[in-house]
Amino acid sequence: MYIVDTSVILSGFIPENLDDYITVEEVLHELKKSIYHAKMLKICSPSKKNIKKIEEFVKESGDDLSVTDKKLLALALDFDGIILTEDYDIQNVAKSLGIKFSSIATEGIKEVYKWKKICKGCKKEYPMNYKGKCEICGSDVVTVRDRS
Ligand SMILES: [Zn+2]
Repeated sequence: MYIVDTSVILSGFIPENLDDYITVEEVLHELKKSIYHAKMLKICSPSKKNIKKIEEFVKESGDDLSVTDKKLLALALDFDGIILTEDYDIQNVAKSLGIKFSSIATEGIKEVYKWKKICKGCKKEYPMNYKGKCEICGSDVVTVRDRS
């Protein structure tokens, strides 16, 4: 089981086999607008026991973790899973607690996609933050994988 954090999804990572990937609710909140390629991730709530374990650990160690970070780490303990994260703080605590982690930058996970926005009608390309219909033909502007 892989536990996916916000940084990894924002970097364009899309899991191949969705059944193996989970995240916490807070990650989807953090993603908000870029949710389009994350909403198929399974959401899990970590056990209270392991949240407590993480909280007690960081209280001692002084690591500065967000609620989301702590929940991801607790989830990794629950499932004995691997955290996918680019976040150094999470990696650091994971290392101390013997939780497996992996960064897509260093581990060379292959399924890293780039994205672009393109008009469904005339295929004009738009910047990723573009909202609304195509200014040329009025068709919907959709997000697609950039295969170039
Ligand atoms: Zn168009």
